[in-house]
Amino acid sequence: AAMRHLPYFCRGEVVKGFGRGSKELGIPTANFSEQVVESFPSDISTGIYYGWACVGNGDVHKMVLSIGWNPFYKNIKKSVETHIIHTFKEDFYGEILSIVITGYIRPEKNFDSLEALISAIQEDIEEAKRQLDLPEHLKLKEDNFFHLPGGKIVNNH
Ligand code: ADP
Ligand code: MG
Repeated sequence: AAMRHLPYFCRGEVVKGFGRGSKELGIPTANFSEQVVESFPSDISTGIYYGWACVGNGDVHKMVLSIGWNPFYKNIKKSVETHIIHTFKEDFYGEILSIVITGYIRPEKNFDSLEALISAIQEDIEEAKRQLDLPEHLKLKEDNFFHLPGGKIVNNH
């Protein structure tokens, strides 16, 4: 069920998240606005995904993505957060983030400790890196979606 909507193409502005302290954990996540999240299929599974991401007209990088429940809305709305597997010199709030989600790793989980959470995310990142080197995922890195002129916002079409 998680795979039915993949590959999923999405473009939108990076907004301020809810300060869960992702960056302090060394795993910053670029959050999409509520409007962009609303444009996702309502039946898309929550959990951890991977794919490709590009900020503005920049390079295309590997990413891991979480589709989770948004605590700001008493967990009735989803949040979509992208951790790009690349070290950026500066934050990029307000920029247009383009992503293609190509695969699914696992459902959302609760962790007993911060250490357990961080090590699970590190494993997700390693899994994403491996999967994205496979031809069926690698080919989407070169998709025209990442090279469209202008900042037109097109979700899955
Ligand atoms: P917030 O709660 O505002 O989302 P985070 O701690 O999750 O704060 O940090 C996210 C921000 O960090 C992004 O919006 C982006 O501007 C910046 N950032 C820097 N490097 C990365 C990266 N590799 N992946 C995602 N975001 C990054
Ligand atoms: Mg975030």
